[in-house]
Amino acid sequence: MHKTAAYAATSATSPLAPWTLERRAPRTGEVLIDIRYCGVCHSDLHTVRGDWGPMDYPLVPGHEIVGHVAAVGEGVSRYKVGDAVGVGCFVDSCRACEHCKAGEEQYCAEGMVGTYAGRDRSTGEPTQGGYSTRITVHEDYVLRIPEGLPLDRAAPLLCAGITTWSPLKHFGLKAGDELAVVGLGGLGHMAVKLGVALGANVTVLSTSEGKRADALALGAHAFEVVGKDPAAGKKLARRFHMILDTASAAHDYNLYLGMLKVDGTMVLLGMPEPTLVGAGSLVMARRRLAGSLIGGIRETQEMLDFCAANGVVSDIELIDIADINDAYERMLRSDVRYRFVIDAASFGAA
Ligand code: NAP
Ligand code: ZN
Ligand code: ZN
Repeated sequence: MHKTAAYAATSATSPLAPWTLERRAPRTGEVLIDIRYCGVCHSDLHTVRGDWGPMDYPLVPGHEIVGHVAAVGEGVSRYKVGDAVGVGCFVDSCRACEHCKAGEEQYCAEGMVGTYAGRDRSTGEPTQGGYSTRITVHEDYVLRIPEGLPLDRAAPLLCAGITTWSPLKHFGLKAGDELAVVGLGGLGHMAVKLGVALGANVTVLSTSEGKRADALALGAHAFEVVGKDPAAGKKLARRFHMILDTASAAHDYNLYLGMLKVDGTMVLLGMPEPTLVGAGSLVMARRRLAGSLIGGIRETQEMLDFCAANGVVSDIELIDIADINDAYERMLRSDVRYRFVIDAASFGAA
């Protein structure tokens, strides 16, 4: 066992605070990872605050983990001590169902084991995430960080990157397509970068006028403020082949659906409070409203390799772990430019 510094929530309403947990020595096939950086995803905040249902505490969030292999268990074949590796949103699955066999472990029939707030499939113990200095994971659920990717700016690829990459590929974005991205936060800014890298014309639909210059600097071709005003809906009617909706708070889907061309697809990635969808928003132009959950291990590795080959990394604000509660408050105000990443070296100081 390895005593490991962490930050945990102890209830849905208390701030995250220092905590110590035990990481197991690697079992057969597992690697022990010294964590260097961990991105801060809005899902971390939703989870610890109980937005998606009651949780067990203490709870250590964090599923955008990068670090170096510190030890390997028996039978590990893919990684050796010192390798740069990553861990995303899940650390295990049944490996036997049709989805696991297809490399889409996130849709496992028995449920993927979340990197945090999950249960270890053999011991039943709660899993704890990357706001910590070490983690032990089976090599089959570990990603290789390709050479050339800076580790801190690669961390957000493990969730924000794959969550936006997977639907762009699955729903068939083509070069020259008109792509809209709703919400310029962690997911949104990766959607812009990946969409541009795949050759799309990208428009950011934001509630924050102050993000215009950033959106264009990130590579977006256009920027529109879309709030509650239906005028924006009229102006952009039938403009886009695809919309990736990354907004973290409730908003009117119908307004955005009207911006899809005939046969266009809007993919929900954010998971806010439910809102009603009028059938007419879909029926009148044979539109599709879809959803997408992160991505499988194989696809995540493909995305990482694509990012290394195309120079795609996240724009980050590196923070000390002691600043995590402020970072959460800023995330709630849509004031993220564009992903907070925890420097694990700061656990020593905390
Ligand atoms: P984030 O960094 O906080 O960004 C969310 C963005 O949503 C904000 O920056 C803001 O952008 C926009 N927004 C906020 N309130 C809005 C509103 N009322 N109407 C329209 N837009 C609004 O969050 P994130 O980490 O990117 O995560 C986004 C959502 O995706 C969260 O709900 C998260 O849980 C979810 N998520 C899903 C998956 C998946 O697998 N499907 C994976 C990871 C995260 P503007 O300032 O530009 O408006
Ligand atoms: Zn996430
Ligand atoms: Zn499965």
